[in-house]
Amino acid sequence: MSHDADILLQVSGLKVAYGGIQAVKGVDFEVKRGELVCLIGSNGAGKTSTLKAVTGTLPCLGQLHYLGKPLRGQGPWDLVRQGLAMVPEGRGVFTRMSIAENLLMGAYTRDDSDGIAADLERMYTLFPRLKERHTQLAGTLSGGEQQMLAMGRALMSRPQLLLLDEPSMGLSPIMVDKIFEVVREVSSQGMTVLLVEQNASRALGIADRGYVMESGLITLSGPAQQLLHDPAVRAAYLGES
Ligand code: ATP
Repeated sequence: MSHDADILLQVSGLKVAYGGIQAVKGVDFEVKRGELVCLIGSNGAGKTSTLKAVTGTLPCLGQLHYLGKPLRGQGPWDLVRQGLAMVPEGRGVFTRMSIAENLLMGAYTRDDSDGIAADLERMYTLFPRLKERHTQLAGTLSGGEQQMLAMGRALMSRPQLLLLDEPSMGLSPIMVDKIFEVVREVSSQGMTVLLVEQNASRALGIADRGYVMESGLITLSGPAQQLLHDPAVRAAYLGES
């Protein structure tokens, strides 16, 4: 099979089940280099299960290709080494480590100390709040700050593809604004991003393309602006009738 070099991630016929519950029922999607793609849908639609299957933390059926090669059967560090970084739902920062230590953990697979130092400064420019508090323990940060730290830590691995699971979940409106601003900024600097979000209007507002997931299936897809103005999407996800 020939491979389109611009496709970073290709997912075909993906299925995930929890015992007898079929959470993901055969989904196809792709993320091209440089794109900001969002996967939207309501609570329980199967978005998180899809991401977990992509990163190998859940068993699945179907085909996953990253840069044209099968993704199955690899551990998380292998994925990071290949340029795939995930920011999980609930952030997963190391609460008893400082902000700076958390960021440096993200560079665990790298050995270019000059590049790591430069990237640490880049993270502090992107997230000034983290710079102000760099010696503080991560556990003392607010939810929004922990989200920033988790994103910063993922970016420290210099990923080719950044996977974000519900980054705005549980945050105050001001923090939600900040997080979407940062995702857009990171994307505009050239990062390829797959953004999983319940907040459909905000995600579509910054994305290039979107996929709508419902009960384990992708029911709609297209350019983000087109989905944002689609009456079915507006009725189901943007609270309009
Ligand atoms: P959310 O926004 O709440 O994370 P989601 O779209 O990401 O929703 P998933 O978390 O992937 O959806 O869940 C999809 C379906 O799988 C739901 O019906 C959910 O109840 C079920 N499910 C998720 N995790 C488990 C689990 N560990 N055991 C059993 N069922 C699960």
